[in-house]
Amino acid sequence: MPRFCRMEKRYYLVKLIAFFLMRCYNEFDNFFRRTSIMISQGERNVRTVKNMYSGAGEVVIESLLGANELNEKCGLFARVTLAKGCELGYHTHHGETETYYILSGRGIYDDNGVKLSVNAGDVLFCRDGCGHAISNTGDESLGFIALIIKG
Ligand code: MN
Repeated sequence: MPRFCRMEKRYYLVKLIAFFLMRCYNEFDNFFRRTSIMISQGERNVRTVKNMYSGAGEVVIESLLGANELNEKCGLFARVTLAKGCELGYHTHHGETETYYILSGRGIYDDNGVKLSVNAGDVLFCRDGCGHAISNTGDESLGFIALIIKG
């Protein structure tokens, strides 16, 4: 048992050191790098979430920036795609806001309980403490940019 505890302590110490070194590296990189970063399409993280917030179908989320670039100031900067009939279910935001910028398609946006018809070009701002949902009610896919600002 004492042997196991020692191993466990060592494991947490290694994890802590690794975390600290990563943070130092990120800070160093953000401070000293004086060039822009290009993140090509193939390099971006894309994930598919089924029944997101109990919505029908699936949501494809393509991160436009990674955690390093968001630098804990932003929660998310992504391109979201909902195929025909898919929806991102109702959820609320606390300690942050979320903006959707509709790029293509048409849908219904639930603005804290009020349903709005949305099209390409519309900007929807969900205030801190409010809730929203969006569903694709058109024939083509619904694409939008999602930005979560913390604080
Ligand atoms: Mn949201």
